[in-house]
Amino acid sequence: MENDYVKCHLCPANCRIGPSRQGICLIRTNEGGTLIASEYGKTIAVNIDPIEKKPLYHYKPGSQILSIGPNGCNFACAFCQNWSISQVKTSTRYIAPKSLVQLAGANGSVGVAYTYTEPLIWFEYLMDTARILKDSGYAVVLVSNAYINEAPARELFRLVDAANFDLKSIRPDFYRKICKGKLQDVQRTIGIALELGVHLELTNLIIPGLNDTDDEIKELVDWVAGLNPSIPLHFSRYFPHYKIDLPPTPGERLLFAYDTAKLRLKYVYVGNIIGLGDTDTNCQKCGNALVKRNGYETDISGLNGPNCAKCGELSDVKV
Ligand code: SF4
Repeated sequence: MENDYVKCHLCPANCRIGPSRQGICLIRTNEGGTLIASEYGKTIAVNIDPIEKKPLYHYKPGSQILSIGPNGCNFACAFCQNWSISQVKTSTRYIAPKSLVQLAGANGSVGVAYTYTEPLIWFEYLMDTARILKDSGYAVVLVSNAYINEAPARELFRLVDAANFDLKSIRPDFYRKICKGKLQDVQRTIGIALELGVHLELTNLIIPGLNDTDDEIKELVDWVAGLNPSIPLHFSRYFPHYKIDLPPTPGERLLFAYDTAKLRLKYVYVGNIIGLGDTDTNCQKCGNALVKRNGYETDISGLNGPNCAKCGELSDVKV
């Protein structure tokens, strides 16, 4: 652009970036009039996690997955639970694409989960590594805010096996004021993922006083049910972090959300709190516990391949 400005079209923020400056996400830089993926391959952590921790409950249950993420985010959620790695600069470690695949193989991982912060802003690294992972038979998993423009979403999601996307609220005002983003872009991304056959689960962090009214919970559930009632919905308990200092979500609100969602959706889970709702995944035909969970311990003996081990019904769990 004029005066060595550049424009990034990766996400709906569509940043116009001045010389030597970065986009909102912190990791895309204008170097002399060229837009550079300046944090390419630089991860804030490398861990082997249970896939249930992402959370993904219906995709390869009981497996371990190598997890990495960049130092930045294209949202600025005032309640961010990971603000020290998403909103401010911190130390990183570079992992070359081929080394990432070797790392996954050496640690018994089923693939790689791009997670912790906002992986979509790592687009070039995602594309490069996802291609190699797919060629080597590994799974590509995203844990994301789903804030990406349509063209790059379509390019990337063809290489993605499974995703857990945040649906932070069903109210545009919430996204605009609290996250500095737009709900309709998130909804469009969710639709694209479903259209392209990505295994999808959704997470809604319930924050007292901000997105927890009866009406808002019902509207969110209705929207998900309208997409597909088999989409697993994870409600998560809020704890005070970053700029918002509200008390943790009361169990009563989480229970209301769980009970409300169970009326319309087949699979509802509550996280960040012990003993609320059923954490098992049950056969929709005979009720057999297909997957039993105790914390991050997982027992999949109720499954016979993708089928219920008791009645033979094909389950919604991808093994
Ligand atoms: S990816 Fe980053 S630089 Fe690009 S538009 Fe989004 S926030 Fe701005």
